[in-house]
Amino acid sequence: MKLIFERSVPGRRCSILPPCDVPETDLGEFGRTKELHLPEVSENDISRHYTELAKETHGVNDGQYPLGSCTMKYNPKINEYTASLPGFTGVHPLQPERTVQGCLKVLHTAEKLFGEITGMDAMTFEPAAGAHGEFTGLLLIKAYHDRRGDTKRTKIIVPDSAHGTNPASAVMAGFMVVNIPSTEDGLVDLDALRAAVGEDTAGLMLTNPNTVGLFDKNILTITQIVHEAGGLNYYDGANLNAVMGVARPGDMGFDVVHLNLHKTFSTPHGGGGPGSGPVGCKAFLKEYLPGAGVVQTPDGYCFAHHADSVGSVKAFYGNFLVVVKALTYILMLGREGIREASQNAVLNANYIRTGLADAYDMAYDETCMHEFVMSLEQEKHAIHVSAMDIAKSLLDYGIHPPTMYFPLIVHEALMVEPTETESKETLDELIHAFLEIHEKAKTDPAYVQSAPHTTAVKRLDEVQAARNPRLRYVFE
Ligand SMILES: *Cc1c(COP(=O)(O)O)cnc(C)c1O
Repeated sequence: MKLIFERSVPGRRCSILPPCDVPETDLGEFGRTKELHLPEVSENDISRHYTELAKETHGVNDGQYPLGSCTMKYNPKINEYTASLPGFTGVHPLQPERTVQGCLKVLHTAEKLFGEITGMDAMTFEPAAGAHGEFTGLLLIKAYHDRRGDTKRTKIIVPDSAHGTNPASAVMAGFMVVNIPSTEDGLVDLDALRAAVGEDTAGLMLTNPNTVGLFDKNILTITQIVHEAGGLNYYDGANLNAVMGVARPGDMGFDVVHLNLHKTFSTPHGGGGPGSGPVGCKAFLKEYLPGAGVVQTPDGYCFAHHADSVGSVKAFYGNFLVVVKALTYILMLGREGIREASQNAVLNANYIRTGLADAYDMAYDETCMHEFVMSLEQEKHAIHVSAMDIAKSLLDYGIHPPTMYFPLIVHEALMVEPTETESKETLDELIHAFLEIHEKAKTDPAYVQSAPHTTAVKRLDEVQAARNPRLRYVFE
């Protein structure tokens, strides 16, 4: 397709600017000296450009998106409606508190409800994404030890099944990472954990259900081991989709948690974002939270700065409109609906898992939570068809591939997460596609190895794309 710059024709316009109503100022030496290369196109050109772009890609509005660990659930349209209300979009973060009472009520209500869902006492909405929330949460843990003069606690324990952002955030927050292995059945190895904790343990980072989709039945023992060693427990709540309304990190022994509103709470990811990664904590960590919280007084809502804050991690109050969308989602579902969403997410994952278990090797052969992992290792050796080949083949069915080659502890991994927002018909379509591809791989492996066959672009050179990305248009 043509790029927007290639559609450009000098002098073509799509908007007429209103007359300037402020005095013109000469910027002098700060003025632009080179021409500004903006595409010059009509509204029609722009509209077609974006429609064409949308057709070349795959989004949750095009078809299923069973991308494990990412919870690509449908984004309800009502979220967009509430987030576009002028009372939310027309405010300025420096307005006097009494003029933004509605917005403060949103933050206050969201803190209360997310606190209830996670079992935490206080929350900040500043972090803009999951990894940003991890970093913020780890700063709370650091502050806790530092303020007590316990400065030798420099290590964060992370299991080998962890999401890659966990060790990265720990290092960014100034900790050293101690990796502990998982057991054969994909859970935390308790003996390894006991051996790893000590006087230098700042805390543990864990997600439960873990990245292979299993709920760790030893969770209370795990968090206790860390507490007894003097460390704190951090819960990676990016994917709360299996347990929201059912089980709470706060009751499992966790002290800090982050949520990905752009996963579990139905707000868009990536290009449709921005994200939001609020961090919740127990009361004893509250005063370390970034920036200000919202409190309710007889005179209305107002900001209250945290007494011993680790400092702000983002300007003002985070991606506020994303919080509006997520709050809309939980208010629409209600207490029962939230629980039902989790139950259906788990049911849907198990429906697919059992539908595929005769053909595909399951990495862990037991009831899963909201996602499951299979391994294509056997196929890779026997018929040279890899996890990548199967994933690419799904594109020909109008289905986005599952997560590939993650978690690292499973070889040739495919990680499938359907979410609760798919119907039985779409789940059946996915099962059918997977089974048909598996059959095809046996009779005509070359066809599967060269998939996709129907998309705008075929196999991309991923190494080249990662090593030498071309991210901007080069003018002649
Ligand atoms: C997605 C995810 C993250 C990171 O979230 P971002 O918003 O992408 O930074 C962290 N942990 C887990 C388990 C995740 O699935």
